[in-house]
Amino acid sequence: MGKTIIISNRLPVQLQIDNGEITAIPSVGGLATGMKSVHSGGDSLWIGWSGLTDEEIPDRLAPKIDKALAKHGSSKVNLTESEIDGYYYGFSNRTIWPLFHYFLEYSEFESEYWEAYKKVNQKFADAILEKADDGDTIWVHDYQLMLVPQMVREKKPDISIGFFLHIPFPSFEIFRTLPWREEILNGLLGSDLIGFHTYDYERHFLSSVRRLLGLEVSFNDISLDDRVIKVDSFPMGIDYKKFSEAAKKHNQNKEKDKSELQKRLDTHKKSAPDAKFFLSIDRLDYSKGIAKRIYAFEYFLNKYPQYKEKVRLIVLAVPSRSNVPQYQLLKREVDELVGRINGEFSTVSWTPIWYFYRSMPFENLIDLYTSSDIAWLTPLRDGMNLVAKEYIATRTDQTGVLILSEMAGSANEMNESLLINPNNFEQIADALHTAINMPVEEQKQRNAILQKRLERYNVEKWANDFMNSLLDQKEKDYSYV
Ligand code: UDP
Repeated sequence: MGKTIIISNRLPVQLQIDNGEITAIPSVGGLATGMKSVHSGGDSLWIGWSGLTDEEIPDRLAPKIDKALAKHGSSKVNLTESEIDGYYYGFSNRTIWPLFHYFLEYSEFESEYWEAYKKVNQKFADAILEKADDGDTIWVHDYQLMLVPQMVREKKPDISIGFFLHIPFPSFEIFRTLPWREEILNGLLGSDLIGFHTYDYERHFLSSVRRLLGLEVSFNDISLDDRVIKVDSFPMGIDYKKFSEAAKKHNQNKEKDKSELQKRLDTHKKSAPDAKFFLSIDRLDYSKGIAKRIYAFEYFLNKYPQYKEKVRLIVLAVPSRSNVPQYQLLKREVDELVGRINGEFSTVSWTPIWYFYRSMPFENLIDLYTSSDIAWLTPLRDGMNLVAKEYIATRTDQTGVLILSEMAGSANEMNESLLINPNNFEQIADALHTAINMPVEEQKQRNAILQKRLERYNVEKWANDFMNSLLDQKEKDYSYV
């Protein structure tokens, strides 16, 4: 058995430079946790960008950084500011991200971005080739690196390569508009296994391969030259235990151990015991439908005025990609909308929307999840949506209602939630009304099923299933020769 090499745009460590000293802090995000079982011990390596451009790293510190990263089994790809601009903020976030989330009108087809994307993908591929031996297994992550599999395959034809896409793969009618569509497909087809969150994304991909490249596709196998490429779905889970145990601990907290946020939430609960909290958490991204959700809230208050002063919407919008113009526009839109609705509906004792534009530490996320009667997560398009799964995992007494967009990948596994179309305000208003009045017994029944499923299909299982499928594929490949 060779080693495992994981490749993603960002390394799972955060670098801090303080007085010429370097500290590398491991990240706690979903991917980093899920990969723990794959990325552990001495026989694995994670390759990615450190988060600091070449311009930000003084020459004399470069060796120290390499050393600090090596302690975490990580190795960095060096990128300049202009490479990050073209490859990351450009092609990844202004071309692929909007297109793959069905925001065709936001997608910019700039050949400069495409050139930067190719160049940086080659840098990642070179970094892999420098470290990889023939018996190794390579796992490439996400839409920033779709050309890497083929670039590695060219130089190392027999190495085992898996690719996982963390965002949706759009339907052929959308994908075909990309000027570099064949190149992207060919890049991905350097893999032995290509994974998606859902069966629909998988089908869309296969249909594009068939129609744009004319390749033979049988079930979920693609034949290319003398290779067979397997395409499959692997819905990503969460670290279930981490969330459910944090919630259990949180619920036993004495008054003095509670966070400031929790104390404020408690005060409001006490002042109006039958009032309900609605929770909305997302990165501030147009794909998440935050503005639409706020409009739908206004619609709900007008349709069911009996809930005025009885419900409160908590909006946590996490800053994201704020140097891309669409994100700046969205920020302004949401700011204004919250201001207008609060201005219109507030009374001396009631502010309908509490709006936080920041990221919150884990402890406060648990405060929000456990204190909210209803989680209202209605992206217009979302590869998966882990927040929905995290909310359910924290409901230790099994109460709580999840209202989820059917456009989120997670909707496929969360049928017991109230699934809605984020564009249908009538349906949303009615779902909120249903959620407020749902009997506790019914809440528990629904959540018990969801929790059981989420506990079983956790993020560790996701990573292991993908790796096992990749190993199977490798063995199959050998039997063809
Ligand atoms: N999250 C966070 N800090 C916050 C709000 C959210 O770390 O202030 C986390 C949240 O727990 C979840 C992730 O961000 O794990 C968001 O994942 P999701 O799949 O819902 O959306 P994405 O941002 O990846 O599109």
